[in-house]
Amino acid sequence: MKISRRDALKITGLSVVVAGMVPRMAFAARNALRSIRTGVQPGDKTRLVIETSTRPSYSLTYPEKQLVVDIANMSADSSVTPKLASGTLVSEISQVQSGDHLQIVAKLRKNIGQLQKSQIMLLEPNGDNDYRLVLDFTAASTSADKIASSVTSSGASSQKPAQNKNIIVIDPGHGGKDPGCIGRGGTKEKDIVLSVARRLKAGLDEAGFKTYMTRSGDKYLKLAERAEFAENRKGDLFISLHANANPSRSVKGFSIYTLSEKASDEEAKKLAESENAADKIGVDGFTEFERDIRAALSSLQQHAVAEMSEEYANGCARAFRSSKVEAQPGPSVRHAPFAVLRSTVPGALIELGHLSNASEEKLLKSPDHQNKLVAAIVRSIKNYNFDV
Ligand SMILES: [Zn+2]
Repeated sequence: MKISRRDALKITGLSVVVAGMVPRMAFAARNALRSIRTGVQPGDKTRLVIETSTRPSYSLTYPEKQLVVDIANMSADSSVTPKLASGTLVSEISQVQSGDHLQIVAKLRKNIGQLQKSQIMLLEPNGDNDYRLVLDFTAASTSADKIASSVTSSGASSQKPAQNKNIIVIDPGHGGKDPGCIGRGGTKEKDIVLSVARRLKAGLDEAGFKTYMTRSGDKYLKLAERAEFAENRKGDLFISLHANANPSRSVKGFSIYTLSEKASDEEAKKLAESENAADKIGVDGFTEFERDIRAALSSLQQHAVAEMSEEYANGCARAFRSSKVEAQPGPSVRHAPFAVLRSTVPGALIELGHLSNASEEKLLKSPDHQNKLVAAIVRSIKNYNFDV
């Protein structure tokens, strides 16, 4: 039986005694490298284990005779000496800092094929161990293997829709009497995000996800109703779509936000205030819902939701960057107390770009650019690890 991370969260919830006082939403902490080791597994498999203090947000790449594990939000640590077993494919391991990411570069004696999901395990902390990313691989002996593996992976992806029933809740921001921000050329945020949301729903449906939209028309919804909607639909991931405005018309680019009680910077704080202000248009029904949610969540679970959200947000930022979507200067993933993200569903608020910037306003209106954004988001959701 496959247990999704959401299921695990719910199972944990049953056995956790709820604290009466309001627990603080966990702040996404910086990840730390604990250890790196290799070993030999039956079937002549090489096992590479990377132990980290928090759940790693990672990606794998395969340069010639190398396996590179890129981990977000982590610094190199020279005190961590890799423990290399003999008889494995790994000859040497080094740490390379790349901005906010740490790349763990394993030099290999032979090339390996792209790792399948079954070769990757992410283990929860137990006993003396922290989080462990466990990678098992063998040498790709001939080019025929490469062809075989590419056939398998394309076969797997055509199968995927049947087995993939993770639930994605798409939340087009604003709507109805709340237009959101308005571009110089009159473009309204509520219209842009609804158009992108519809395309995103189509893309995710095609990829086999089960999708819901908090609004499918030009309708005003309170922030609490959106969060509650995600909760009631038992969402595995919540994506709130927005577009930004900045007093400085030259500012452009995307940025992605996850929930935390404390804003990561002044700009994130201001943004949360302006997005949260949407609720002041209606009657505030949030307090009661928020109390329920907080009561239902232990601080441990809040921490898990925060980490899963952070992992998704980092993956989404990577997908945007690799699609050459312009990023707002500064960190691509930030944190702030967004009301709409207050639920047990991991998720992120994506500011797709700036309507206050004339060239980006034009871009955001174009179907081609909207499709490009959607393709990147679909990819980031496909790459997100829904399973324990
Ligand atoms: Zn907005």
